[in-house]
Amino acid sequence: MASYFKRVVRPSIRNYLTYVEGKNKFFGSIKLFFELLKPDALIYPDMVCVPTTYCSLRCKYCNNLMPCYEKPYHAPADQVISDINTLLSHTDHCIKLVFLGGEIFLYPELTKLINAVKNHPKVMCLSLVTNATVIPDDAFLDLYASISNARISISDYGVSTQKIEEFTAKCREKGIRYQVNVDKSWRDAGGTENRGKDIPQLTKEYNECFSSRYCHTLQNGKIFTCARAASLVDLGCMDGEHDSFDVRKPRSDKEFRRELREFFTLDYADACKYCDHGKKIAIPAGEQL
Ligand code: SF4
Repeated sequence: MASYFKRVVRPSIRNYLTYVEGKNKFFGSIKLFFELLKPDALIYPDMVCVPTTYCSLRCKYCNNLMPCYEKPYHAPADQVISDINTLLSHTDHCIKLVFLGGEIFLYPELTKLINAVKNHPKVMCLSLVTNATVIPDDAFLDLYASISNARISISDYGVSTQKIEEFTAKCREKGIRYQVNVDKSWRDAGGTENRGKDIPQLTKEYNECFSSRYCHTLQNGKIFTCARAASLVDLGCMDGEHDSFDVRKPRSDKEFRRELREFFTLDYADACKYCDHGKKIAIPAGEQL
């Protein structure tokens, strides 16, 4: 098993210090550190949730393979909420709960989803990731602005349909915390074919990848090793048996915590067989098909 310190403790403290609002962050991080050391603690740096595979862009090199969906879908909010509630019922702290798509503002039940998780005592930071092509209506923005630990992360790829200025002006008007991430280049993840890598190579690549620490992804009732793994399984490119944790499987609280902690420290991910991130080839971000 890969180091719990490297995969869970250090990223959790980092995300706490970076994203969680509040005073006395130093003392808070010390307290969190000691909580993380408890043998049955279930604390993780973030959980990415994908309720929709619809996207308003068609990025040629999308790491999460959204343009590969011939039939994109919206997951029913009741099911997504049920999965999140199951997960959080066994969780001590989720430092950052992230909703991602596709494009999250195309999700028709986003208000219902946000109402279900807002101000959840176990979620330290709530985040939406958007490409700013869709400006949500005032009712949604007012709801989001009322949530004390919420923020929006805006990915700016320089695509002409992105409304970065308009979106950020709305956030400022409503008092919503936001950050703009200007992405000029990505790493090429390549196609969905199996590259036939051996376990030592997979171990090396998974451990070097940012996603092994910061991108565990909840989709269709399962947590995956990264967002690309979730899409690869969803698209039928791999089976996902090794790379997923079934949230819906009945377990005791003790079993859930132990098995998910083990999952967070997997040595490798099968998904890395279907990914070229390890080659570190830079490509232009957001190039459209
Ligand atoms: S498949 Fe592996 S290398 Fe590619 S993004 Fe996921 S964890 Fe990283």
